[in-house]
Parts: sequence; C-alpha cells; structure tokens
Amino acid sequence: MSQSPRLAAQGMSHQDVLDQMRELRSDDARWKEGRTWSLVYHAGDDIRRLLAEAYTEFMSENGLSPLAFPSLQRFESEVLAIASELFHGEGTAGTLTSGGTESILMAVKTARDYARAERGITAPEMVLPASVHPAFQKAAHYFGVKPVNVPLGPDYRADVEATRAALNANTVLIVGSAPAYPHGVVDPIEQLAQLALDAGVLFHVDACLGGFLLPFAKKLGHDVPPFDFAVPGVSSLSADLHKYGYAAKGASLVLYRSAELRRYQFFTYADWCGGIYASPSMAGTRPGGAIAAAWAIFKYLGEEGYLRLARQVLDTARALREGIVATPGLKLVGDPRLSVFAFSSDVLDVYALGDAMEARGWKLDRQMGPPALHLMVTPAHAKVVKSFLADLRACAGGLERGEPAPEGSAALYGMLGSMPDRREAADFILQFMDSIYG
Ligand SMILES: *Cc1c(COP(=O)(O)O)cnc(C)c1O
Repeated sequence: MSQSPRLAAQGMSHQDVLDQMRELRSDDARWKEGRTWSLVYHAGDDIRRLLAEAYTEFMSENGLSPLAFPSLQRFESEVLAIASELFHGEGTAGTLTSGGTESILMAVKTARDYARAERGITAPEMVLPASVHPAFQKAAHYFGVKPVNVPLGPDYRADVEATRAALNANTVLIVGSAPAYPHGVVDPIEQLAQLALDAGVLFHVDACLGGFLLPFAKKLGHDVPPFDFAVPGVSSLSADLHKYGYAAKGASLVLYRSAELRRYQFFTYADWCGGIYASPSMAGTRPGGAIAAAWAIFKYLGEEGYLRLARQVLDTARALREGIVATPGLKLVGDPRLSVFAFSSDVLDVYALGDAMEARGWKLDRQMGPPALHLMVTPAHAKVVKSFLADLRACAGGLERGEPAPEGSAALYGMLGSMPDRREAADFILQFMDSIYG
C-alpha cells in the first residue's frame, strides 16, 4: 500500500495474474452467499456460466458498428423486440445501453431535444417525484434540464396533484417509477401518464428495476398495475437487463413509442476527417459481450425460466417482509409488494441495527428518507431467509436491551442525514470520493 503501483518492467504469468486477482477479492461483498442486498443479481451458477461464455465469446466485438457485426445487430434487435412485446409496445423503437443510468440519460436528452425541435422550448424542465433514481438528477446536470423535485404522497408513491402543480410551459418530461428503488412501490403510472397527455409533454417510466420482474409477477397472479406502453401517454421506458433480466453487467434498454421519437436520441457527425460517425447512445465503443450475454439469457431462460425466478424472488421477499413485521420494533416503509423494500423503526436506531447486522456479515443499504434499511431480494436470498431473520431478531433484541451496537456507519449516517445545509453534505461526500478514488 505504501508504494504507488507502476507498470512493471516485465509481465507476469497468466496464472500469477489470476492468482493475484483472486487474492485481492477476498474482502469483497459475499453476494454468492446471499449476504449482500444490493448491487448483484445472482440467479445461480448455471446462469453465471452461460453469461460468462456468451460474454467472452463476443468480448472483442464492438456494437458501435452493426455493419461490421451483424450478429450483434441481430442480438440487439431481437432483445429489443422481445422486450417491446413484454411491455405491450407496438411500433416501439429503442436501443441497448450500458445500464439504467445510460438509458435514463438518453430518455432525458431525447425529451429535451424533442421539445426543442417540436415546441421551441429552450429552458427545459422535468418533474421528478422524490423517489426517482439519482440518474435523473445526473441527466438534469449533464443536459441542462431543470429538475423540478416534488415530494411523495403519504404512501411513498408519486403525488399526482403535486406533479400537476409542478407543470408549466417549459415542462418537457414527467417521470414515474415502476417501482422506485427506495421503497419498492409502483407510482400511479396511469394517472401520471394522463397528466402528461393533457399537458402535451412526454412521460418516461423508469422500469429499470422492475421491467423484467413485473410482467412475470403479473402472470403469476400478483397485483401489478399497468405500467408500460399499454398505458396511453407513456412515451418512453427504461428496463435493466442486468437487474431482474439476469444478464451480465453492462446491459439495459430504452424504448420509445415511435422511431420518430428515438431519432432525438441518436448522434451523427458527417463532417469528421475520420469519416461519417453515427452513434446511437452515450457510449462510443459498445462492448459486444454485454449485448451477446443479454440475448443469451433470454434464449436460455425463456418465459418459463423468468416465471420460476420471479416466483422464487417474490416468495422470498414476502417471507422476509413477514419476518420483519413480526420482529418487535420493526416496520415496513409504505406497503411494498414486490422484491425491493425498506424497513424502519419508531423505537430503535435503524442505523445501529444496520451496524449490528453488518458485524454478523449482512450488508444492508442505509436510506435517509425516512431512515431505513433496504433489501433488494434476488434468487440468491432464498436460502438465507431463516438465518437473516434470526440475526435480525437477535440484533434488534440486543439494541432494545440497551446493548451497544458495534462501531459502523451509524454515526456518519446520523450526521449526514441531519445536516441542515445539503450543500455541506454534498461537499462532505465529495471529499470522501477524493479519498476513495485516490
Ligand atoms: C438501478 C436503477 C437505475 C440505474 O441503473 P444503473 O444500471 O445502476 O445505472 C435506475 N432506476 C432504478 C429504479 C434503478 O433501480
């Protein structure tokens, strides 16, 4: 650690390189064991092997040029066609992207450029319910679209009246989530879409998280409100293949109601001395592996596979929720019915509870609105329901008896959450990033 690494004069052997990498990961999150509750969607070793092979097979290919790689072009268009059908799209058009953030960036840029061209809007705004993913704030920041943030309703869903009140002549986009990440609840998509239709603005549904879960949950008999192109007024939708699509990392998609709308996403430059340049999304080079693996997982699982995994995830999530509400002092945030949810407490310090659980090897995300711990359930968690709930009960009981929590991030979260000046909080996080990124 003391010496900063530099390129060695001589290379190492294949085996030594891999050995060193495997050693370096020894402190990484133990997602295969179901100990982490975000970041990784593990659906079994057979799927991992397939993805690894499909990815490596096309690792060198570049999706920037569909002409050079008709295979990738075919994978991409088939994945989009399958997704479009799942989301009741007719005549929809889209692209694969590197992840949910890129899909969202593209949807916001498209809305901005559409409004500029079709409505002459030069000071664009978009209306964002408080639970939307920060990628929308990032898009606002990158593309100069003013974010108009509106608070949630008491059920933690987007507040339709507050959204209506936030619209004005410069609004180019309304956003709803299906579901939103923090509380796992689906926004009132039909009502928000109607607002958008009435106001003549675009409406994006962020189904990054739920896109490849909700259609199967619905088929399994769960109560899933309409959230996709079946709803008039939905003009675009994002869905992450690398979440509940179980694809390899680096795969999401964005769909638009029409190819005319998608036009505003594309970028072309015909005057480069290097030749004609055309790029569908943010990325230039597009890793072929991610596109190939996304196609492979659709083929491998089929509807039957997705239904099986969705059932497992939803059953596991329900068992966890039941165990949590049966634990003295704990309650759910809102009324989550899907695979992602948060829990909080009126009597315990949930951040201290998070630290106590972490000392037992469970990595739970901390949330701040309201203070809560967060679970994102995947097939990897089916086997840990009992042990997780037993530890949760023990940790909550310990705190209730006044036992001190092990040292962790509780103090930090308490401090960050209560800083009245949010710029100060942002500044603190920037300093932290400087130190992390060296
Ligand atoms: C994960 C997520 C995103 C962002 O996706 P990335 O792949 O992390 O960029 C956007 N919206 C929701 C609701 C998400 O859960």
